[in-house]
Amino acid sequence: PYVPQPDPVRGAAVKAADRAHVFHSWSAQELIDPLAVAGARGSYFWDYEGRRYLDFTSGLVFTNIGYQHPKVVAAIQEQAASLTTFAPAFAIEARSEAARRIAERTPGDLDKIFFTNGGAEAVENAVRMARVHTKRPKVLSAYRSYHGATAAAINLTGDPRRWANDQGSAGTVHFWAPFLYRTAFYAANEAEECERALQHLADTIAYEGPSTIAAIVLESVPGTAGIMVPPVGYLRGVRELCDQYGIVFVLDEVMAGFGRTGRWFAAEHFDVVPDLLTFAKGVNSGYVPLGGVAIGGRIADTFARTPYPGGLTYSGHPLACAAAVATIDVMEEEGIVEGAERLGREVVEPALRDLAARHPSVGEVRGLGMFWALELVRDRETREPLTPYNASGEAAAPMAAFAAEAKKHGLWPFVNMNRTHVVPPLNVTEAELKEGFAALDAALGVADGFVG
Ligand code: PLP
Repeated sequence: PYVPQPDPVRGAAVKAADRAHVFHSWSAQELIDPLAVAGARGSYFWDYEGRRYLDFTSGLVFTNIGYQHPKVVAAIQEQAASLTTFAPAFAIEARSEAARRIAERTPGDLDKIFFTNGGAEAVENAVRMARVHTKRPKVLSAYRSYHGATAAAINLTGDPRRWANDQGSAGTVHFWAPFLYRTAFYAANEAEECERALQHLADTIAYEGPSTIAAIVLESVPGTAGIMVPPVGYLRGVRELCDQYGIVFVLDEVMAGFGRTGRWFAAEHFDVVPDLLTFAKGVNSGYVPLGGVAIGGRIADTFARTPYPGGLTYSGHPLACAAAVATIDVMEEEGIVEGAERLGREVVEPALRDLAARHPSVGEVRGLGMFWALELVRDRETREPLTPYNASGEAAAPMAAFAAEAKKHGLWPFVNMNRTHVVPPLNVTEAELKEGFAALDAALGVADGFVG
C-alpha cells in the first residue's frame, strides 16, 4: 500500500515557502498554521512526519471518489498527452462527452451544460442567465446558505462572510428557509416549518414585487451552513411559486450534487426539477477545477437565437472535462452513488445516533447519504451552541479542542462554527468509517467537557 516516505526536512521547506508566499483563503495570514501534506490516497492523507489522517472532509467536500483514483489520474494523463488545452469555441471530445454524461444524469430537461471553473462562477452565470431570460433585476436567496465568494455569489450567501464583502448589491434579497432545529418561524414540527417557510417566501415575493424578481437561488440541501435537509414539500412549494410568477428556480447543487446525498442530484429526493442547476466539486472529484450550469429547455430557448452575454477562457477545459468523464464512469462502474446511499443509511446514521445518545454535547444529528452534521451544544435544552457565533466565523476554544483530539486519533474533521460535518469520500470503506467514529467518540468526549 501507498505510504509516502517521511521527510521532515522537506516538510519544513514546504511549510516555510508557504508561510512566506502563499496567501490563504478566509484567513488572517499570521494566525494560521497549515499542515504540510506529503501525499494522499483514497480516504487518507499523510504529513511529512509520516502521520496518517482519515479525511472526513473530502477536502472541501469535493473528493467524492477519494484521492488519486488510478482511472481518473490515467484519464488526465492521456488527455494531457493528446490535447492539453483548447479554446472554448470548438467542439472537443472530452468536453462534449462530459456535457453528455452530466446532462444524462441531471433531472428533467436540464440538457445543456455551460462549463465554468468552479461553483461561484456557476452561480454567477446562473444569475446572469436568469436576469437576461426574465429581463428582471432581483434575486432572492436564503439566510444560512453558501454560494461562493465572487461578487454575485457572495452577496447571495447567507452567512457572516458576506458582511465584509457586501457591496450593498442592489437586487439581492434574503429570506429564511426551513430549519426546524433553529426555526425562524416558531414551528413545532416539520410540517409546520415547511408551511410557514413557504408562506414567508410567498410574502417576500409579494412585498418585493413578483415582476421584479428574476430568480430564487437555493441550495438543494444547504451544506456549509449546516447540512439542513429541507422538509418534504418545501422545494416543490418553491417550484410552484416560481411557476406562478415566472421566476427562474436556480438549485445550487455544487456541494450536494454528484452522489453526496446518495442520489446523483439531491433534487431527486424531493422530486423537483429546477430551471437551472449549478454543479462543481464532485463532478470530477475536484481533480482539476470544474463547475457549470445545467440549463433547462425554457432558458436554453432564450439563447437559441440570441447570444449568451457571458463566457470564460477556460470554459470546458479538456483536462477538467476528461477528469469528469472518467469520474462519472468510475462512479457508475463502482456503484458509488448507491454505495453512498447504503453506507449512509446502514452505517453512518446509526453510528452517529449512537454517538449522540452517549455524548451530551451533541444537540442534533442530521443528514442523508454521505452528508451529515453533528450540531454541538452547551445545553441540549436551550440549544446554546458550543461555540458562540462570532463575526469572523472562527472556531473558538471548545471546537478547537474537539478538532485537536480528533487529529490526535488520526481523524481530520470538518469543523464550521459549532458543527462537525461527516462528509467522507463516497467510496469510504466500512472499516475506515468505524475507525473515524472511534476518533469522533474520543473527540466528543473532549467536547462534553464544555457542556453546562
Ligand atoms: N455553492 C455551494 C452550494 C457551495 O457549497 C460552494 C462551495 O463550497 C460554492 C457554491 C462555491 O464553489 P467554489 O468554491 O468552487 O467557487
